[in-house]
Amino acid sequence: MQIGFIGLGNMGFPMAGRLLQEHDVIAFDTRSDALERVVALGAQAASSVKEVADRAETVMASLPSPAASVEAATGAAGVIEGSRVKRYVDLSTVGSRTAAQIHDRLAERNIVAIDSPVSGGVSGAENGALAVMVSGPRSEFDVIRKALEAIGRPFYIGDKPGSAQTMKLVNNILAANVLVATSEVVVMGVKSGLDPNVMIEVLNAGSGATSASRDKFPRAILPRTFDYGFATGLMVKDVRLYLDEAKALGVPADVAETIGRLWETAARDQGPDSDFTTVIKPLEKAAGVIVGPAGRPPSG
Ligand code: NAD
Repeated sequence: MQIGFIGLGNMGFPMAGRLLQEHDVIAFDTRSDALERVVALGAQAASSVKEVADRAETVMASLPSPAASVEAATGAAGVIEGSRVKRYVDLSTVGSRTAAQIHDRLAERNIVAIDSPVSGGVSGAENGALAVMVSGPRSEFDVIRKALEAIGRPFYIGDKPGSAQTMKLVNNILAANVLVATSEVVVMGVKSGLDPNVMIEVLNAGSGATSASRDKFPRAILPRTFDYGFATGLMVKDVRLYLDEAKALGVPADVAETIGRLWETAARDQGPDSDFTTVIKPLEKAAGVIVGPAGRPPSG
């Protein structure tokens, strides 16, 4: 299959790399270094979003914000102007309202919009082990299913535009909750004198295990590398999108609102480009400890 791919960042690059093992990929990113990296793996370079959509029937995108997705899909030089494109598969997290907006605009030009957000982080993308949530026409899901299997396990969520986005936000608010909650309790334990390495081992053997204790702590927090590969600003985006959707539905969101405030603080404190595992740092600072190899007090 020939696949167009727009956005070759932390997630897009490894996903395009997986697709290249079985498919022809025509790629574009506004950053030339990102484009060169994927061309070195065998992709063909395009010089614009429109050129990608002029050359491929199936165009995928992994972009950093709802605004970037709207612009790439429906802007003046966007996918919507492409001469060859038949379907636009958005792998980004944009929320259901943006997905529906993109769907309606592309439908005017008979281009099918499929929202297909992913979960599993950079390592999931590298290993082809993402959860891939898909909404759109079932027949279109069948057309792209094989390609999506190169990046992970596809789940058909439904035909309502945006429903896969809702599923993704449900997943991410829970991941956001447990990362902050696990950080808070580990900081508390370290302050009382517990060894954080032992704490994580015990949590993982007991009923307190979370995706944070199993993966994010051992990989990026305990070794203090803070290089998990997901930006704090992106997590804030996802928390805000979840809160918007919950508000629109009129459902309780007390936990999400509290957690959201902590993420907003982390983004202000660490900057939006910081790795999201640095969310522990404001908690460490407030407690006067560092969750590291020896539970050292913070310097400076
Ligand atoms: P990123 O910022 O690393 O990558 C985005 C890429 O898009 C960059 O290379 C940027 O140059 C490019 N770009 C921006 N505007 C563009 C445009 N108009 N045309 C072409 N290229 C453009 O972001 P990421 O971490 O790869 O995340 C991408 C999406 O995937 C986001 O929606 C994010 O929420 C979601 N996501 C990320 C992760 C993760 O662990 N990083 C996991 C699941 C989902």
